Amino acid sequence: MGQGKRFLRPPGARPEKEFLARCLQCGQCAQVCIFDCIKMRRGFNFFVAGTPEINPKQAPCHLCMRCSAICPSDALLDIPIEKVHMGYAKLDRSKCYTWTGELMCRSCYERCPIKWRAMYLEGGMNPVITDQCAGCGLCEHVCPKGAIEVIPTRFQQTRTDSSEGA
Ligand code: SF4
Ligand code: SF4
Ligand code: SF4
Repeated sequence: MGQGKRFLRPPGARPEKEFLARCLQCGQCAQVCIFDCIKMRRGFNFFVAGTPEINPKQAPCHLCMRCSAICPSDALLDIPIEKVHMGYAKLDRSKCYTWTGELMCRSCYERCPIKWRAMYLEGGMNPVITDQCAGCGLCEHVCPKGAIEVIPTRFQQTRTDSSEGA
């Protein structure tokens, strides 16, 4: 599992400072995740070691919401899917098969678990990500061109539009 800085917290996570103050490092969120996408962070940083992280390149979240429902300390809040903002997906149109006209690809759109609100196809073809994106990372995981990257929002209270191409 990646130990880089670009990791996501599970859905429902409080803002980072509050999250760290509440997380018991019990691992119940990871145990309940049937998609095995939550890993407990390793390393020597006392404050973050043992807390849950998601790396969407390796295993994205499927928004089943089991982890946030089970968290015993409410470090993860049991919120509805429409309130989840683990991150926001940024699509680089200059890399995307469809936007560049190389191939017709809709992998990201097909796999988005909330595509009715987080994505649409411009002109019935080109994927666009809206500001309703939950940041689950499924689109990043399936994109064959590496055109999508989810930017974590754990240090942010507000979000910016994510659908612009680079
Ligand atoms: S919402 Fe489901 S898939 Fe996503 S991290 Fe939690 S348990 Fe895993
Ligand atoms: S656009 Fe990507 S990151 Fe956002 S909800 Fe859909 S699949 Fe998840
Ligand atoms: S999966 Fe990647 S290449 Fe395919 S349409 Fe989406 S962004 Fe473009």
